[in-house]
Amino acid sequence: MTSRRKFLLTSGAALMAGAAALKWRAANAGPAPTWEVTHTDAEWRALLSPAQYEILRRGGTERPFSSPLYKEHRAGRFLCAGCQNPLFSSAAKFDSGTGWPSFWKPLERGVYTSRTTSLGFRGAEVQCRRCGGHLGDVFDDGPEPTGLRYCIDGLALTFTPGAA
Ligand SMILES: [Zn+2]
Repeated sequence: MTSRRKFLLTSGAALMAGAAALKWRAANAGPAPTWEVTHTDAEWRALLSPAQYEILRRGGTERPFSSPLYKEHRAGRFLCAGCQNPLFSSAAKFDSGTGWPSFWKPLERGVYTSRTTSLGFRGAEVQCRRCGGHLGDVFDDGPEPTGLRYCIDGLALTFTPGAA
């Protein structure tokens, strides 16, 4: 009895994960990239601050409300702190109330959404499409027009004011 109930719960979760995966795929059409920018682990450690390395190369997460970019409201572009790839426009930034810079869509060729994370079936990992650096996660509870919420670590980003 117990195992059957467990099986049913698992299948339900799998179905929901499938639906979420379709949505991520629609938002990130195209095959898995080969990273254009690659470095050895030692090179990444030299290029990044310890806190940036922890997030970009080891999938860490910064403390909420700790990034000055959370309150960055000027027009401009958010680039990958690892390779300067343009990732997000200020035009798609919104205040999610979560404490992490949030966007409802990435720039063309900005990010790659690779796999479901340990956060469960409602989120997927977001990586820089150019260097594979871990940026954060995407969820399906964002605002229109996409309904997506890219929840990004500010330490994985640099901001360039100007044209969005
Ligand atoms: Zn990058």
